Amino acid sequence: MNRSLADLTAEPLDVLIIGGGIVGAGMARDAAMRGLKTGLIEQHDFASGTSSRSSRLLHGGIRYLAQGRIGLVREASVEKRTLHRIAPHLAEPLAFIFPSYPGAGWPLWQMRLGVKMYDLLCSGHNLGKSSSLSKAEALQAVPQLKAEGLAGAVRYFDGFTNDARLVLDTLRSSAARGASLLNYCQFQNAVRTTEGWRCEVEDQRTGLRHVVQAGAVINATGPWAQKVPHSGVRLRLTKGVHLVASRERLPARDAVVLTAGRRILFVIPWGERVILGTTDTNYAGAPEDVRTAPEDIAYLLGAVNEFFPSARLSCGDIISGWAGLRPLIDDGQGAASDISRAHEIRRAEPNWWDVAGGKLTTYRLMAQQTIDQIAADKRWTTPPCSTAGEPLLSQAETAGVSGILPPPFSKEAVAHYCREEWAVHLDDVMFRRTSWQYYYADARQKAEQAAEWMAELLGWSDEDVARELARCQPSMMSLLPDQVAT
Ligand SMILES: Cc1cc2nc3c(=O)[nH]c(=O)nc-3n(C[C@H](O)[C@H](O)[C@H](O)COP(=O)(O)OP(=O)(O)OC[C@H]3O[C@@H](n4cnc5c(N)ncnc54)[C@H](O)[C@@H]3O)c2cc1C
Repeated sequence: MNRSLADLTAEPLDVLIIGGGIVGAGMARDAAMRGLKTGLIEQHDFASGTSSRSSRLLHGGIRYLAQGRIGLVREASVEKRTLHRIAPHLAEPLAFIFPSYPGAGWPLWQMRLGVKMYDLLCSGHNLGKSSSLSKAEALQAVPQLKAEGLAGAVRYFDGFTNDARLVLDTLRSSAARGASLLNYCQFQNAVRTTEGWRCEVEDQRTGLRHVVQAGAVINATGPWAQKVPHSGVRLRLTKGVHLVASRERLPARDAVVLTAGRRILFVIPWGERVILGTTDTNYAGAPEDVRTAPEDIAYLLGAVNEFFPSARLSCGDIISGWAGLRPLIDDGQGAASDISRAHEIRRAEPNWWDVAGGKLTTYRLMAQQTIDQIAADKRWTTPPCSTAGEPLLSQAETAGVSGILPPPFSKEAVAHYCREEWAVHLDDVMFRRTSWQYYYADARQKAEQAAEWMAELLGWSDEDVARELARCQPSMMSLLPDQVAT
């Protein structure tokens, strides 16, 4: 699939979506499946914002249960099952062991009750049945876990996904239904017309500006949402950092939940790796400047080493990591981890819709509610939403190129991403399409090989290759170079 501006500019669209993260992708699929003439622009690569920097969980949010946010948990729990149904390759059941240490975190009886409720909130059918573990059973399940003070544990289920792949496969699904999608194209500004909006966009590859007309515009720009002209969104951004280490250093069959004050952290098995995360701190800088700081690394290693004392993880064990921003609705109160993860859909001006907040898990529902509201506002007679009933893609379309684990490292895979998935830069392939950059300890060598293949496929010169390799530096993956073991 080639990048083509002509599809966006040839005739007026029904809907133009700004932002190619999970929220924008969900909107594009829903609108296209209802037969609307749909366009989407993304200023960088698809999924390059928060939607490739999450904990990769499809979850109701066990900690929101403790905060009494039952409606939010139920909504997301139902959605996690929906995603398991429509995208099974990107929604695997994952068991979590949540140990209880009296005096720190929740008492065991409360956790036992909580996980039963958690199962019930998935319409009674969670992705697996929760259970209660004695101290001995908990230590058998997670041998390296701190034994001192351990009372027992609960085991419950959520879904494990690949956030960037979920965006890309949702976009592939929407393109198959006729949506026109363009990465490296930035929204500049818009003028209201009697029919909708006349938008000026800039192709970041050529520097040329173009006009796109649309009956309705959806601002789905995540952490950038309040910066977009005409936006009525007020955000509070919080930063979350994840680190990746070898699973040999922290052998975990199930994911493990750790408590740190009022917060919880996860140790998540990911093939030969474990993902450790996350932090949650207020962030005031520009969204594109988000970076992992030494104190983020110290915090995560400290928390993990407290619960896995024999692991003695250090900076030298870190293979990679990422930092992302939660685009949370600013309600003017609360500590970072207390701010609601609920979403907001708002008509800021006639035919201009801001969609913000929410979670990866609830993206499909956010799209359904938004397109319902736009269709009602425009008095369009569109068919009802059908995104929960149809698979994202067929098994043949995803085999070997999309899944929770990175695909095998091969020239064929790289060719597929360039020809079928809009990859134009090396980091598009190494980070978003495959996660190779995060997964492999020899990511640098892999990037050099992939660059050679892309040079053949896309006709890059030696200077192009050097430039592309520079884009794949650790700074691109939001880690400070001197914090990474090479
Ligand atoms: C650390 C962390 C962990 C998380 N873990 C989970 C989890 O486990 N499960 C879960 O359900 N949720 C999780 N979330 C939340 C979830 O990741 C986000 O809610 C979701 O990814 C936000 O998607 P988005 O599309 O709104 O934003 P983004 O993914 O940031 O997409 C917005 C896009 O808009 C583009 N854009 C901005 N301005 C313009 C412009 N002018 N023109 C064109 N394009 C523009 C940006 O480049 C960007 O790609 C987590 C979030 C964080 C930060």
